[in-house]
Amino acid sequence: MLLAFLIDCDGALVCDARVGRPPPDCETRRMATHPPQQRTPVAPVAGSAIETRLFIDGAFADAASGETFATLDPATGAEIARVAAAGAHDVDRAVASARRAFDDGPWGRTTPAARATVLRKLAGLLRDNAETLAALESRDAGKPFKETSLRDVPRAADNCDFFASAIEQRAGETFSARRPFLGRDRDIQSIVQYEPVGVCALITPWNSPLMQATWKIAPALAAGNTCVLKPSELTPLSTLKLAELCSEAGIPDGVVNVLPGLGVDAGAPLVAHEGVDAVAFTGSEPTGIAINVAAAATLKKVTLELGGKSANIVCADADLDDAVEGSVLAMFRHSGQVCLAGTRLFVHDAVYDAFVDRFTARVRALVVGDPQQLGSDLGPLISPQHRARVESFVASGIAEGADVLLHGVRPPDAALQGGNYLSPTIFAPASDELTIVREEIFGPVLSILRYTSDADVVARANATRFGLAAYVWTRDVSRALEMAGRLQAGMVWVNGYFLRDLRQPFGGVKHSGLGREGGRWSMDFFTQPKLVCIAR
Ligand code: NAD
Repeated sequence: MLLAFLIDCDGALVCDARVGRPPPDCETRRMATHPPQQRTPVAPVAGSAIETRLFIDGAFADAASGETFATLDPATGAEIARVAAAGAHDVDRAVASARRAFDDGPWGRTTPAARATVLRKLAGLLRDNAETLAALESRDAGKPFKETSLRDVPRAADNCDFFASAIEQRAGETFSARRPFLGRDRDIQSIVQYEPVGVCALITPWNSPLMQATWKIAPALAAGNTCVLKPSELTPLSTLKLAELCSEAGIPDGVVNVLPGLGVDAGAPLVAHEGVDAVAFTGSEPTGIAINVAAAATLKKVTLELGGKSANIVCADADLDDAVEGSVLAMFRHSGQVCLAGTRLFVHDAVYDAFVDRFTARVRALVVGDPQQLGSDLGPLISPQHRARVESFVASGIAEGADVLLHGVRPPDAALQGGNYLSPTIFAPASDELTIVREEIFGPVLSILRYTSDADVVARANATRFGLAAYVWTRDVSRALEMAGRLQAGMVWVNGYFLRDLRQPFGGVKHSGLGREGGRWSMDFFTQPKLVCIAR
């Protein structure tokens, strides 16, 4: 089925299953959700058709069962589209297609330069379709359009360009030696060449779907693999658009297959499939553990990018302006639905009162509203179920006795009633043992904790099963290096938040994951070294 996406004259994204026609309630919805004084056009008029079926062997197709599931607009609760629901039979078809394309097709045997050219073409197509993709992503994920347009979609294109260059620059190794063998000395030339792994299962979460999909397919394809990509059932639309752009870029049939569907119906059989050689997963800790167990049965290579409970440390000597702004960003971007969120904010006793006053005032000023509007800082949470889960954490914080500095609520505005909105909560717990301080909430709920010494804060920051990121705000370089060395985290940012360079490793320690993505780490995962040893 083709789903028509248009951006109307006010910049609001509207859609209809009947190509080219806005839904009958379009005007009502627009008027109701955008008070006139807040209206800001998010994009000029544009149009595009989005597929909602599975993408297998270069063609869109219904699920074998004929089943579909609804993808909902988190900002209104309205159904955006019904999407084909892949099951085990479709997994078989997609893996067989990827297997054929890998074993018999041209992709893995093309030169790195040829694959790089195709990836750059894909990057160009992502840029050509940037407005549609950004609006679609904002609509499906409830993510502020200013983020999807300024960050997610440009980054998706950058991912493709980056790994195009990475494969062009990747070199093998040679070794020379002279050894006796069968009665005479031989000259021995050994070559280490990096070959693709095979068929890769790529499984992505809902919070940055297009960015995550390209972050995995770009290195997988650059290295010459074929893949089956399973987006989250909550946000499948931009990945289906990506499938179409892959075809347009000239990626051969079967090299990229896309299977929207539920985790248990599509993801689990994909991970268990004998025809899959490697699994690259980003998502929650429990799913990551289940995938690691399932993949072990067939000895698949696995990389896991999981959740976090990251410490954000504001030292007594911090630049408080930077620390306040950086901490707001680190915690409340995408309503806290970010793996890197700095959800445990440790503030030194000497600056605690000054920092907390300014920080809380700044958070109070954040605008919770329609993600399609440029003035909105926080959009809705992804689903009603997820909002209820986040609210249950807020209730547990109160029940367990944490001081409440800001109590998040469902905003009373009539225009926001259909969506899964929740304003920020700031707790000041007296103990690090509270549930809200230990568990990943994945919503706009922060704990601010007071500390007195570097040794104390490092020990408390490390007292978690997670280890994704940590942040330190200090003017003292020695203190920064000392703390960074002792913090148990895959990534430590000092005086910054997510200052990202695609050449660098991304990932966590402990229960935040296994392996790293980015730069040569992605290329290592999606390749395997082969030794060819020649004696003369
Ligand atoms: P999730 O684990 O519920 O789902 C992730 C993906 O796995 C989805 O596509 C889902 O359908 C699929 N899935 C579910 N069960 C499966 C199974 N048994 N076998 C195979 N696939 C299965 O996670 P989510 O709710 O979509 O995403 C939020 C989580 O992702 C948070 O914990 C967040 O911290 C984490 N995350 C981590 C990173 C990172 O880079 N470390 C980035 C973004 C999100």
